[in-house]
Amino acid sequence: MRIGYGWDSHEFKPGIPLKLGGVTLPHDKGLGGHSDGDVLLHAITDALLGAIAGPDIGALFPPSDPQWKNADSAMFLREALQRVRAAGYEILNLDSTLILSAPKIGPHADAIRKHVAELCGIPSDRVGIKAKTPEGMGTENAAIANVVVLLTRC
Ligand SMILES: [Zn+2]
Repeated sequence: MRIGYGWDSHEFKPGIPLKLGGVTLPHDKGLGGHSDGDVLLHAITDALLGAIAGPDIGALFPPSDPQWKNADSAMFLREALQRVRAAGYEILNLDSTLILSAPKIGPHADAIRKHVAELCGIPSDRVGIKAKTPEGMGTENAAIANVVVLLTRC
């Protein structure tokens, strides 16, 4: 088996859609930065790549490259999944913790879980989606994602 860990953060910016785990959430701000700013899909991508000791998301898809501006982050995840399969592994389960002050993730957690499971090609009972508010961290204008993933030989 292989374990992988991914971490990412993006800053909230007004006037852009908020995408988390490939799901667009109703909110007055979205996440800026690399591609569509989907902090959860980026952390999952890095966890998968880390588990097979691959290059990280920034090496494969440099944020400085204009072709990834506003790109759908599901594309990065698909590339990581292809590399996982090529290395002879499949996902056993993944778990995540989002840290953000708003919006509340609870009402959307099931939708995010289902969508992430679909993207990863695994049942939704193998995807953990948890969220915390950033108490005392001073990161109110950011969304942070922590992800661990467990792989097993196909
Ligand atoms: Zn990112």
